[in-house]
Amino acid sequence: MLNALSVDVEDWFQVGAFEKVIRKDEWDRLPHRVERNADAVLALFEEAGVAATFFTLGWVAERYPALMRRVAAAGHEIASHGWDHDRVFSLTPDQFRADLRRAHAAIAEASGTAPRGYRAPSFSIDARTPWAHEILAEEGYAYSSSVAPLAHDHYGWPEAPRFAYRPLPGAELIELPVTTVDVAGRRLAAGGGGFFRLLPYRFSDWAIRRVNEGEGRPAVFYFHPWEIDPGQPRVARAPLKSRLRHYSRLSAMRPKLLRLFKAHGWTRTADVVAAERERLQ
Ligand SMILES: [Zn+2]
Repeated sequence: MLNALSVDVEDWFQVGAFEKVIRKDEWDRLPHRVERNADAVLALFEEAGVAATFFTLGWVAERYPALMRRVAAAGHEIASHGWDHDRVFSLTPDQFRADLRRAHAAIAEASGTAPRGYRAPSFSIDARTPWAHEILAEEGYAYSSSVAPLAHDHYGWPEAPRFAYRPLPGAELIELPVTTVDVAGRRLAAGGGGFFRLLPYRFSDWAIRRVNEGEGRPAVFYFHPWEIDPGQPRVARAPLKSRLRHYSRLSAMRPKLLRLFKAHGWTRTADVVAAERERLQ
């Protein structure tokens, strides 16, 4: 079974955890580490022999076009993570369309390929954004991987399906939600990010096996370039809870990821969407 492997390409200061202490107009004055960290991700993928999807901010693509070309040349998929990490539920429908278009243009210009996939910043397509999938379809996207079907303090849409579905009747657009597992009546996040970094390896390994073998479906896993960068600047002004989540176990991440990549089958998100599309026919 091939699972969807993805990396959300954003810099250490572009995360929701720091949005209240670092303003967007400060971003260009901060030390950028996304290019070297994304190159480290490319090296990690090469070592593991896996292909993946790079959901990239338009803001990053515009500044680092050579990186985008290296990602494409290595056989990975380049998709959109929006312009500068505004959550979809914080935008109006018109603002969301403008954000999508700006990111699309920057990514297509930098990489030479128009993105067909989209991941909302912080899985921010939920019950508050009933217009989002329609706009994605209108803008020519083939798939979205933007829904977290669970209740979490910052995000989540517990009523959404756990596996690939067509959010719009009669439209081709597929939504591929991030992986969750149901354990003893509780819905748990099992698709990566901070959960993979903070919880023991064996939980993610077990969850992917359960989804693949127990439920017969592909898993959807993601992480960030800054998660393998223990040398990133520390934001002392951020709340303690945010700092604990952001900085814990960064140095253990690389070997942990490599172990996961070798233990399971992985490919680009678009490939998993294509297989799921057949199933949904
Ligand atoms: Zn993100």
